[in-house]
Amino acid sequence: MKVITTPQEMQALAQTWRVDGLIVGLVPTMGWFHEGHLSLMRKAREITDKVIVSLFVNPMQFGPTEDLDNYPHDLERDRKLADAESVDVLYAPDASAMYPVEFKTSVHVHGLTSGLCGGDRPGHFDGVTTVVAKLFNQTLPHIAVFGEKDFQQLAVIRQMVRDLDFPIEIIGHPIVREESGLAMSSRNTYLKENEMEAALSLSKSIAHARMLVEKKETISPDQIKEEVRGIILQHSQCAIDYVEIVDQTSLQSCEQVTGESVLVLAVKINQRIRLIDNSTLIGN
Ligand code: AMP
Repeated sequence: MKVITTPQEMQALAQTWRVDGLIVGLVPTMGWFHEGHLSLMRKAREITDKVIVSLFVNPMQFGPTEDLDNYPHDLERDRKLADAESVDVLYAPDASAMYPVEFKTSVHVHGLTSGLCGGDRPGHFDGVTTVVAKLFNQTLPHIAVFGEKDFQQLAVIRQMVRDLDFPIEIIGHPIVREESGLAMSSRNTYLKENEMEAALSLSKSIAHARMLVEKKETISPDQIKEEVRGIILQHSQCAIDYVEIVDQTSLQSCEQVTGESVLVLAVKINQRIRLIDNSTLIGN
């Protein structure tokens, strides 16, 4: 596996692959790989000829009081993990290569970015769409694989790709969980032993919501949200950023639960660790 650190070298290599008729896949990440990331790499490996994994902790998507400086980082650890998945290139540009001093552009997707995580993290999605647009231009993929864990991010990226005519197929990949049910996340490393039960309330409340929908045909989104909030707030360490049931494409609140409805949660544990999770309420 090759490690590339400059946009120029990355783009030149991707160009030669495309000229050779190879299908190029991209998995964008911020590193500190876990099974969730590795599952995206395996998916890309399965459906493309050349797999690029980008590793860039993007300062533009962090707010001033967020965890940019503490975000877990170990290039050598991640290099070994990506290599073991037969990734072709680990693309790890540094911030000055991505955002030179004269940088002046941002990509904004309207509407979809204003609520949920966008409401709690102003500017976050502009950082995401700007860096992903740059990564697309630097790596020239035919296919890019994203996790459904970051559910709103996936909807926003799909919208950007449609609106800006990127000739790229976006694949969403299911959430990988710990045996306990906790959705895997690089931020789980911040959790202390005595915060685990509180963290587990996200996946437990999702399981409860799915059970309610299965058992009661007429339950309303408001009743489900009420019960979900109740389960989470049993833990004094939890503060809810949002609990919503939204349509999976428009991200608008649902008035009824359908196969398109997704329960989305964001919870802060001890004011330090912001966890997100989501699930459809009917079907898989
Ligand atoms: P991150 O490094 O957290 O920015 O995530 C990089 C990619 O991995 C994103 O597309 C995430 O949605 C995806 N991802 C993160 N955690 C998981 C998970 N537990 N299961 C599946 N995909 C994930």
